[in-house]
Amino acid sequence: MKKKQVVAVLALIAMIGLTACGGKDSGTATNNAGGSSSSGGTAAAPAATGTPNIGVAIYKFDDTFMTGVRNAISDAAKDKAKVDIVDSQNSQPTQNDKVDLFITKKVNALAINAVDNTAAGVLIDKAKAANLPVVFFNREPSAADLKKYDKAYYVGAKGSESGTMQGQLLVDYWKAHPEADKNKDGQMQYVMLTGEPGHPDAVARTKYSIDAITGAGIKVQKLAEDTAMWDRVKGQEKMAAFLAANNDKIEAVLANNDDMALGAIEALKAAGYFKGDKYVPVVSVDATAPGQKALQDGTLLGTVLNDAKNQGKATLDLAVALAQGKTPDKATVGYDVTDGKYIWVPYKKITKDNIADAK
Ligand code: BGC
Ligand code: CA
Repeated sequence: MKKKQVVAVLALIAMIGLTACGGKDSGTATNNAGGSSSSGGTAAAPAATGTPNIGVAIYKFDDTFMTGVRNAISDAAKDKAKVDIVDSQNSQPTQNDKVDLFITKKVNALAINAVDNTAAGVLIDKAKAANLPVVFFNREPSAADLKKYDKAYYVGAKGSESGTMQGQLLVDYWKAHPEADKNKDGQMQYVMLTGEPGHPDAVARTKYSIDAITGAGIKVQKLAEDTAMWDRVKGQEKMAAFLAANNDKIEAVLANNDDMALGAIEALKAAGYFKGDKYVPVVSVDATAPGQKALQDGTLLGTVLNDAKNQGKATLDLAVALAQGKTPDKATVGYDVTDGKYIWVPYKKITKDNIADAK
């Protein structure tokens, strides 16, 4: 080979090398900052030295709040980790398969939004057998399951706290608006739309919201309660049924999340509410973008910020610290780690007056 050709070949090799390592961000949900996947089946780089690979499984992509958390995880991963985020399509067997695949691919840590939080035990056994740290988020495993493995953690928000805040929103309204007691019987006639049966947030919000109202000395009467599975369309259907059965008797609407409240608002609009003085207060939890818009419109009375951004960031930062073999604490992940296992991200009450706090 002539000298010139040798130089050209060397330059070409250098270029290919640069492209392979540079891992330009593709701008999609998956952030390929590390780029070790093209190395032909070899093991991932040792955790402590290279950019860690984190396998992230979401219960289903088609969930408004979890989409916010998912985006926050990819944003937080920039320059820190290579994240592979997969959709478990609301099926626990599918999620188990995806987790098995992550383990085969030798990721350095797992972050799991369980489809069924009672399946966490099985997932923890898998992680433990592979000696992989695992961070659960949004759907809290039982304390007994988390205790099985010293490298199992949970990042989330306390469902009870959001329930209490949601109830307080109605207490404030009821006390300031005597006309809210439409039939003047001294009790709040309410309907409740709940998330998935058994979901820790659904259970806690349903209970603590009402406890906050009765705890403030207001008597309540439940007219109806049903699950709308966190879903907007189902929220609309269930609310339409509540309206058909209870005519104009409903004095308050509680929904375990914004999406179901937004569905309920559609049904209420169809029944003539939010026009003239036909009104009923609706409260929920999440403060998603569409939820904030409804606050602005005056259809949603109040919601509670479920901080997707910081829950996603804390999940990623914790998974990275664990993958690097660091002890997670305030210095390494920015949050206190309670009982050596939990990171709690606070909720916040949001109304029309402080929407900026939810941005
Ligand atoms: C959110 C819901 C979401 C659910 C998913 C809850 O914390 O408030 O909007 O559907 O988590 O697990
Ligand atoms: Ca009443």
